[in-house]
Amino acid sequence: MPDPNGFLRYDRRLPARRPVPVRISDWREVYPPAGEELIREQATRCMDCGIPFCHDGCPLGNRIPDWNDLVRTGNWDAAVDSLHATNNFPEFTGRLCPAPCEAACVLGLGGQQPVTIKQVEVEIADAAVARDGLRPRPASASTGRSVAVVGSGPAGLAAAQQLARAGHTVTVYERDEAIGGLLRYGIPDFKLEKQHIDKRLAQLTAEGVRFRTGVEVGVDVTAEQLRAEHDAVLLACGALQGRDTPETPGRALRGVHQAMAHLVAANRVVAAAGDGKPAPATLPDGTPIDAAGKHVVIIGGGDTAADCLGVAHRQGAAGVHQLDLYPEPPTERDAARDPWPTWPWVLRNYPAHEEGGERVFAVAVQEFVDDGTGQVRAVRIAEVTVEKVDGRRIVTALPGSEREIPADLVLLAIGFEGTEEQPLLAQFGVTRNGRGAIDSRPDWQATDGVFVAGDMHRGASLIVWAIAEGRAAAAAIHTYLGGVGDLPAPVDPARQPLAAR
Ligand SMILES: Cc1cc2nc3c(=O)[nH]c(=O)nc-3n(C[C@H](O)[C@H](O)[C@H](O)COP(=O)(O)OP(=O)(O)OC[C@H]3O[C@@H](n4cnc5c(N)ncnc54)[C@H](O)[C@@H]3O)c2cc1C
Ligand code: SF4
Repeated sequence: MPDPNGFLRYDRRLPARRPVPVRISDWREVYPPAGEELIREQATRCMDCGIPFCHDGCPLGNRIPDWNDLVRTGNWDAAVDSLHATNNFPEFTGRLCPAPCEAACVLGLGGQQPVTIKQVEVEIADAAVARDGLRPRPASASTGRSVAVVGSGPAGLAAAQQLARAGHTVTVYERDEAIGGLLRYGIPDFKLEKQHIDKRLAQLTAEGVRFRTGVEVGVDVTAEQLRAEHDAVLLACGALQGRDTPETPGRALRGVHQAMAHLVAANRVVAAAGDGKPAPATLPDGTPIDAAGKHVVIIGGGDTAADCLGVAHRQGAAGVHQLDLYPEPPTERDAARDPWPTWPWVLRNYPAHEEGGERVFAVAVQEFVDDGTGQVRAVRIAEVTVEKVDGRRIVTALPGSEREIPADLVLLAIGFEGTEEQPLLAQFGVTRNGRGAIDSRPDWQATDGVFVAGDMHRGASLIVWAIAEGRAAAAAIHTYLGGVGDLPAPVDPARQPLAAR
């Protein structure tokens, strides 16, 4: 029986972040572990609601009130089991998820601060590692059926683990040199140290999953070969086609890059330093990747932009501006626009924003300005208004509002346009829809025997959705292969986040 007055006795509290001057001098995670006393106190704030709306916020259907109470009572082993029953990788979501479950927590309806669900989750996840080092759970018998998973992000890995534990032989094909997808090469170490991915990979390997890195399906291995070697194929190739702005004058100048070019290169440098290998000093096109001593302008307001900000500070940028097309959001939920329990449009301050830089809202770049040698020296911006007309976004510049911001390095973090156009698609006979994603039937098949999950299916989204789709697609593949019993399927392909109707 949970403590019905816990939320009245304790305020919401999170562990203190590491001090800014210390953390921007290294790449370690921003949050230190919370400590058992704090986390048990915070778990006590959960009311174990009769209708726990936190469940509706989470596509994985995490049993949040159950494990909150298990943590409150110090029953860590049972909490670990309860969390892993619905989530293959809580150490990723506990660190990285924006926590739609917290936006949907019933405490938010009563004007209280929500339960620190995400912090409780990460502490349980880390307790699992500390207790038994992520003990492998190999299948007791093989089904003799084989599955190819293309792409090793959270969707592919979740599916691979589910299928291997059900007795299927699983091979994950990844074109990068290391496994993890955006967890490995998009998200910086100060949000997710890569040791967490490596520990899971050791578990998956011990459970029988085979990994083939440096293999681009469609180029190094054909779809035909994959179909011949495996009984089913899961495509989980992500949505990595970065949105660009080719029409903006000066886009071709040196120093103007896609954000991912910067983040991937920076992650490789950190990984190489950790391995004691010499760090690559340049992008593939020879451009220096480092923000050190530079005036950096980041265009965009989401996760990717915040990650670029944190990386730029750690590299020693002289100054950083982050530009957003939209006006500054309110700090509190606007209930008329986004009623509880939906995800609210509010100002999100990531830890990276604490570290410096200036955010400029309601502006659009008019030109990347040449220094006369083909290198960017500034961005010319104008204040703008944005309105939606017939579903189309109309951006209007305010006359006389133009000004320049100095810039030696400009990073475009303006979103993604779906999965990349690549040979694999035509070889499997699938095509991108209007959003650049791959549609599936209700049983996750994009075409006969070929399934799709994660960002490739949903469009650029979140890790929690990728894991949920990976689990659900694995369940569909298991059924397709005639597996015994059902695997859990937390979502169907049409499922959308909570929204006001
Ligand atoms: C910079 C950045 C920061 C983010 N931060 C967060 C965050 O804090 N929290 C959050 O919840 N979400 C975040 N996201 C979103 C999240 O990372 C994605 O939603 C998630 O990783 C999608 O998982 P996925 O498995 O579908 O694809 P991905 O992680 O993109 O993995 C796809 C993999 O497929 C591989 N691949 C593609 N084509 C082929 C091929 N032909 N052959 C072999 N391999 C192939 C790719 O190399 C890649 O490794 C962030 C995204 C970005 C870009
Ligand atoms: S909605 Fe909030 S208070 Fe209610 S069960 Fe979920 S976490 Fe606990």
